[in-house]
Amino acid sequence: MKQITVLGATGSIGLSTLDVISSHRDKFSVFALTANTNVEEMFRQCCEFSPRYAVMSCDESANQLRKLVEKTQLDTEILSGKKGLETVSEHSGVDVVMAAIVGAAGLRPTLAAVNAGKRILLANKEALVMAGSLFMAAAKEAGAEILPIDSEHNAIYQCLPTGYRSGMPLKHIRRILLTASGGPFRDMPLAELANVTPDQACKHPNWSMGRKISVDSATMMNKGLELIEACWLFDTNPENVEVHVHPESIIHSMVEYDDGSVLAQMGCPDMRTPIAYGLGWPERIESGVSSLDLFKVAQLNFEKPDEQRFPCLRLAAEAYRKGGTACAILNAANEVAVDAFLNNRIRFDQIATLIESVMALIVPRQQPSFDMIFEDDLAARAKAEELIDQGL
Ligand code: NAD
Ligand code: MG
Repeated sequence: MKQITVLGATGSIGLSTLDVISSHRDKFSVFALTANTNVEEMFRQCCEFSPRYAVMSCDESANQLRKLVEKTQLDTEILSGKKGLETVSEHSGVDVVMAAIVGAAGLRPTLAAVNAGKRILLANKEALVMAGSLFMAAAKEAGAEILPIDSEHNAIYQCLPTGYRSGMPLKHIRRILLTASGGPFRDMPLAELANVTPDQACKHPNWSMGRKISVDSATMMNKGLELIEACWLFDTNPENVEVHVHPESIIHSMVEYDDGSVLAQMGCPDMRTPIAYGLGWPERIESGVSSLDLFKVAQLNFEKPDEQRFPCLRLAAEAYRKGGTACAILNAANEVAVDAFLNNRIRFDQIATLIESVMALIVPRQQPSFDMIFEDDLAARAKAEELIDQGL
């Protein structure tokens, strides 16, 4: 029986994780669940999975949840804040941590799990983008296994030789072919991009996801973050990773070997496949995902990304090349920009402009410590807010 902590249990990945777990009660037991402020959903999950701990971000939400739990037979202990998140990530009773908090908020608890040598199912790509070098070094030192859950990285992992583990150098591999759907605005006339609404941006053609990653997919910053994520997970560099826009989202990514063989992982676009892969690893378990009907799909298309339409891809590659805290600055500026767009404070096309300005104004520092990463993350957020207040 594996004991699982689900960080970000009320989100899109969290819900899919619990869906897979619910059909394998003989294999997995929920040790802890965490959420930001959604007390109602967390209470429902506590009733269904009887975790030992439930963690809410603030005391107020924790108190509300505690009152609800006290009226039941449950003996779930309610914790709150950063300390609570770290407790359930590094606890000796935990085997596997699903890291599915969105954004920079996921870094500390995921790192706590890494330092405790847990098996990490990594969905929270922002943690790796911010602190890739230190994160991977910490995993190596603690013997923590990182299984990628992001569908592309999970696909790449599946296409790598048996025995390959995250962080090892690639052998006999020419390149990684990272696929991207191109998001909802791939074909929209460029002039119209200025007027798109948050709801349009969050309506992804193939995947159902949280709002932040949906906007990232629409700007293709998601692919930029994934490019950086791939470089850290597979110890490579952007020159060896080629983005292929593949609007059907059936091939989740590919690996090309020295002999010219290209291996692809395919399937219906449903995150329960990579989640089940991570939960079951090294075995395969049922995910609840339906079979791929290639007769219905009929065609698979590929095109090069349009750099004019998607400047975020270039910004991400630039940040990776700059190194040091540059990716943390990129990520922080992006988080503020996406939030501002979702709250109608800036236009869609201003997301990239804002990130580029922040990157030009804050000089990244090399060979950073975690403290320096968090400092530059904060500095980038403050600068982004300042620029928004000034009208960019
Ligand atoms: P989501 O917004 O649906 O869920 C986020 C979860 O994090 C929620 O449970 C929320 O309560 C929690 N959370 C948010 N802010 C928090 C904070 N400050 N402190 C503590 N908890 C907080 O997001 P999602 O779509 O499930 O994505 C989660 C992560 O997985 C992201 O990093 C995303 O890039 C990655 N990912 C998601 C998908 C997908 O299909 N949704 C695919 C690949 C990767
Ligand atoms: Mg992805």
